[in-house]
Amino acid sequence: MSYDVAIIGSGVVGLFIAYELAHYRVRVIVIDKETEPGFGVSKGHAGVVHVVQPPFNSLRSKLAVEGNRLYDGIAKRLHVRVKRLSTLLVAQNLSHLIALPAVWLILNYVYGKRGFRVRILGPRGLRKREPNINGLGAVEVEGYGVINSFELVSQLFNFCRLNGVDFAFNTEVRSVRALDDEFIIITNRGEYRTRYVINAAGLYSADIARLFDDEYRLEFGKGVMLVFWGEQTRNIIAPLQLIPNPRTKGGAIIPTVFNTTIWGPSLSVSGRDDRAVNEDDINVLARKFSGLLRNRDFTPIRAYAGIRPIPEGDDFIITYSRLGRHVIHLVGIESPGLTAAPAIAKRVVEMLSGAGIELVPKDDVKEVEPMVMTKDAIESSGTISDDQGEVVCPCMGVTRADIREAIRRGARTLDGVIFRTGLGMGVCQGMCLGRAIKVISEELGIEPRELTKSGGSSWLVTR
Ligand SMILES: Cc1cc2nc3c(=O)[nH]c(=O)nc-3n(C[C@H](O)[C@H](O)[C@H](O)COP(=O)(O)OP(=O)(O)OC[C@H]3O[C@@H](n4cnc5c(N)ncnc54)[C@H](O)[C@@H]3O)c2cc1C
Repeated sequence: MSYDVAIIGSGVVGLFIAYELAHYRVRVIVIDKETEPGFGVSKGHAGVVHVVQPPFNSLRSKLAVEGNRLYDGIAKRLHVRVKRLSTLLVAQNLSHLIALPAVWLILNYVYGKRGFRVRILGPRGLRKREPNINGLGAVEVEGYGVINSFELVSQLFNFCRLNGVDFAFNTEVRSVRALDDEFIIITNRGEYRTRYVINAAGLYSADIARLFDDEYRLEFGKGVMLVFWGEQTRNIIAPLQLIPNPRTKGGAIIPTVFNTTIWGPSLSVSGRDDRAVNEDDINVLARKFSGLLRNRDFTPIRAYAGIRPIPEGDDFIITYSRLGRHVIHLVGIESPGLTAAPAIAKRVVEMLSGAGIELVPKDDVKEVEPMVMTKDAIESSGTISDDQGEVVCPCMGVTRADIREAIRRGARTLDGVIFRTGLGMGVCQGMCLGRAIKVISEELGIEPRELTKSGGSSWLVTR
């Protein structure tokens, strides 16, 4: 089959582009080497919808602000949990306190005029706002959010499937052949013909660009995050940095939509596949954030790492290929790529339009249903059926029916079920996994030996 647009990469960026295109009469395929959508960079981030993004005149700052504004509408339409809150940049010593008015002035100048409220909190105001925080004062920036990014990926995927977008998983793009008016994308599982190509390959975007003779250099930055059970603060709390690191705002204490708390991310140069977390990473985060909290009674339940692609020039690269305007590269979509993704997608669709694609709106766009977990159904109706009642993960209240629904929505791996249901994400961090593997295998109609954690050779049961 021949497509109008092939998107390489089913991360949050590729999915948002497919979501936009699903509103038009174009044939779209999304190709990904992973087993499920969102298993690349989009699998391990902090889930924050950002506002402040230095340098203020960068493309990523501009797109983050645009993307931020789009999220409430998208979350409502796709039934994705997003919680709006503020970020407090906390002054921890006298020099920070003296600098607060200047920081307020700059942020208010940049973001105040874009509609985000920026204000100064004195010690009493800070105490009232965040009783658990040690600090002399803070600059508060409103308009941040935290989002259930797993739900987001799953609902974008379902919306696209429902509206005719094709997906090819376990399909690695290896080379490309340019014909007169189309491309042949050659993968490990066959060839796809397409008129337009979008390179949204995340950590591998420079490799894909090279297939079109376009040269970019990427570095890779590892961000480690610690997860705590329960809420420590009501807003995002970051220590004020007078000389910001250009590559990161330095992480924060982040309350999540799951009522857990994240500390991080940190940032260190790493290899592309290096997701290991070591003692040093944990110590860096502990040193940075523990002093901010009054209540020192905390133990992390999990540590994880994500890798971001950092391009030369340290800004998003969104551009046509030198080969012509039928190829669009998205290179180095690092933080805040999640925030910017809806705006990036709109920009890419404009670029496609500028490159000559005909975009006729569909008049029969279908909407996705929310994923209603058993615990939500009980809360709203007060009743439960026998089938729903088999609880597989007690911490998170995940039942067999929830697992079945996750599979109906595309989960094919343990991680796919975890991301759609929250299974194993609770305080015990997966004492239920043995039982869960059995139930997931039964619902998928496979042997436990055939189930993987996240595709490839990530087997869970060996005999
Ligand atoms: C530690 C950390 C914390 C972050 N926190 C935040 C945050 O709080 N807020 C925020 O806005 N942003 C955050 N980000 C940034 C955000 O996560 C990324 O910008 C975003 O997820 C990038 O999505 P993507 O779709 O570009 O890439 P990906 O999710 O990596 O998707 C690319 C896809 O391309 C596929 N692919 C690659 N090569 C091939 C090939 N040859 N053939 C087929 N498929 C291929 C991959 O399998 C992958 O699924 C964070 C990032 C990190 C690392």
